[in-house]
Amino acid sequence: MKELHNFINGTWRSSTEVFDKSSPFDGRLVARVHVATDSMIDEAVMAGRRAVETGWGRMPLRARAQILRDLSRALMARMDDLVEADMADTGRSLWQARNFDGARAIRQFDAYCDLALAMENRSASFTGSDGAQGLWYTQQRPRGVIACIAPWNMPLLLMIMKLAPALVMGNAAIAKPSEETPGSATVLAEVIAQSEVPDGAFALLHGAGATGAALTAHPGVDAISFTGASATGSAIMRSAATGLREVALELGGKNPALVFEDADVEAAIAGTARSAFFNCGQICFCTERAYVHRSHFDAFVEGISQAARKVVIGEPAHDGFSIGPLISQGHRAKVRDLLDSVTADGGAFVAGGGVPRFGDSRDAGAFIEPSVAVGLAPEARFLREEVFGPVLHVAPFDSEDEAIALANDTEYGLASVIWTENVHRAHRVASQLRAGHVWLNAWQFRDLASPLAGAGLSGVGEQFGRSSLEFCTQPQTVTLRVAPLEETV
Ligand code: NAD
Repeated sequence: MKELHNFINGTWRSSTEVFDKSSPFDGRLVARVHVATDSMIDEAVMAGRRAVETGWGRMPLRARAQILRDLSRALMARMDDLVEADMADTGRSLWQARNFDGARAIRQFDAYCDLALAMENRSASFTGSDGAQGLWYTQQRPRGVIACIAPWNMPLLLMIMKLAPALVMGNAAIAKPSEETPGSATVLAEVIAQSEVPDGAFALLHGAGATGAALTAHPGVDAISFTGASATGSAIMRSAATGLREVALELGGKNPALVFEDADVEAAIAGTARSAFFNCGQICFCTERAYVHRSHFDAFVEGISQAARKVVIGEPAHDGFSIGPLISQGHRAKVRDLLDSVTADGGAFVAGGGVPRFGDSRDAGAFIEPSVAVGLAPEARFLREEVFGPVLHVAPFDSEDEAIALANDTEYGLASVIWTENVHRAHRVASQLRAGHVWLNAWQFRDLASPLAGAGLSGVGEQFGRSSLEFCTQPQTVTLRVAPLEETV
């Protein structure tokens, strides 16, 4: 049995409070996790402050970047352990853990080093009101101690997306992974412990929501980078209001896909099957609502239902698109409750809607069938709440305006997909969708440096690439008054 500890100020810490992490694949015990105590949280924050104010925060950017590039190399060498940890915690396939998370996640250290080194300071010369010449420039100082709180759906990727910008800009990063996925963050901490990142600049704290809440409430935390549920984001914003700390919140979605009469319907079916079911529907960008032009509605429903039935489930060695379980029995109970609401609200399933049976140890896991429903009215619960499972509802529309209105009929505003072969329509519709990211005839084809700003319940602030570096930076303006000759002689 693995014991997972906290990493604080360069040392590993055990705790008297522990919890068991079990596999959603078959229920077996994966690890015993030590929960960070309040005094450990305090110690991590204080050590972080010292690291920012002394060595790490004062080190030239180029030197920090070199340390992080070396760290990236060391992480690549531990790829098998990182992949194994995410597979054990989530039940996902080897193919997905390697290709979708693994290397793509680790490469973020190099990507953020490149971006940080290319960041330019602003400057200008000016004439003051007394006629004296002036010169100002900005410089990028670290913001301080940054709480990096990640969810469980893409554990390694989303954690590194927070740590890399924080560390390269000279901040102390305190990682709080989800209680459902403590494994890969612990391997990450093992590698950082062996790296040149100084004590205190990085800490790992394990625990559930209470640990996250205690961390965000700590007055020594300067900013909070959070990805997770909208309700948690709201609680974090309230906590951050004390002390006026900065927050970056990437939250949930209830994402639509629009399939127009001029779409390549086969491509739209294949793309929507991926966008609805990939990672068992547990990606914030996953499609949960499809609106299809009435002329294609029947063919689309038939095609997507067939695609749902063909999805390979619970085969970790499958070398391609397949799905594992939901993250936990608790999450499956929530998803099943929403599936039950479909028939209660007058809808019907054309595929799935239940739990698959394997006749082996997987029956103790948290699997769910990829599901396609039709027939719900726009106000149905299933169409308003984020399910975060492999589910899709399909409804017809008759006009472009109606499609846009249906897509925007949600409190969320994260991602949308437009399927059309008409380039004018694609851009016309994109500009009218309330969504942080719009894909045209694609999904999850993404430059991780492109910005994301969720609207409504989907987020606060702009993230990724340069935006994440700016979030982790306290800009400072330095002004020089160039003294006139008579004042200097
Ligand atoms: P969650 O909000 O339950 O938990 C996320 C993290 O916050 C965990 O580490 C958890 O322990 C911690 N936490 C819980 N309560 C807290 C509190 N009061 N204060 C501080 N920390 C607290 O979310 P989840 O269930 O782990 O993740 C699924 C959600 O994440 C979905 O809603 C999904 O849409 C969203 N998500 C969004 C994005 C995005 O980029 N917009 C990406 C991935 C996931």
